[in-house]
Amino acid sequence: MARIQLKGISKKFKDETVIQDLNLEIKDGSFTVLVGPSGCGKSTTLRMVAGLEKQSGGEIWIDDTCVNDTPPGLRDVAMVFQNYALYPTMTVRGNIEFGLKNRGVSRNEREKLVKDISEIVGLAPFLDKKPQNLSGGQRQRVALARAMVKKPKVFILDEPLSNLDAKLRNQMRTELIQLHKRLGTTFVYVTHDQVEAMSMGDEIVVMNKGEIQQADSPMKLYQDPANLFTAQFIGTPA
Ligand code: ADP
Ligand code: MG
Repeated sequence: MARIQLKGISKKFKDETVIQDLNLEIKDGSFTVLVGPSGCGKSTTLRMVAGLEKQSGGEIWIDDTCVNDTPPGLRDVAMVFQNYALYPTMTVRGNIEFGLKNRGVSRNEREKLVKDISEIVGLAPFLDKKPQNLSGGQRQRVALARAMVKKPKVFILDEPLSNLDAKLRNQMRTELIQLHKRLGTTFVYVTHDQVEAMSMGDEIVVMNKGEIQQADSPMKLYQDPANLFTAQFIGTPA
């Protein structure tokens, strides 16, 4: 079953077309990775899914609803950004529960959710710290936890590990894969790194210049690349 469908999506900034007739189905429960060179339109595509950017043409469907006119807060999609975007003056706890307070979730319920989720992502000892006193990996976990409390149908992670050093990045990749298994929710993960893409995704969407080159399993991409770009980008042996 498709959790998300993009039907003929295009996007122009002023006169420049950056996305062209994009058609894509993202399977429910999948770990889908959008991969392609910098500037190819990955972030723009997912910002449109989250409702943070309006497409110039086409339809976006989440489950059986066209969400073209649905505001971001009602799309049941949580986005984790590259730069974390944490509130610097709030504690870890404050950051995690911020969105819940806005939605009128009771104090008891909030405490329980923050406790459960901080344990899952390994933040339980740090709840009273401020972001500036955390490591990069811990900040990334706060950003994740903040998305998780909303229990969204879809997590969108836009290059979430790019600010981390190589060792931590490896560790966080493994943690994210485990988290995906545990939650069973649809993850859409963006990276420009083909090794990261192939090691994490069960569905890989290769993009270039605003167009999808191929959307397949990692195995299929390796064995049967649709075109030269995919073959070279994924690094299929000649
Ligand atoms: P990626 O995430 O793959 O690196 P982006 O989606 O950020 O690529 O950008 C795709 C193209 O759209 C790039 O050419 C970028 O310069 C352009 N772009 C993105 N956001 C804007 C914007 N707000 N205004 C004008 N051009 C933009
Ligand atoms: Mg981007």
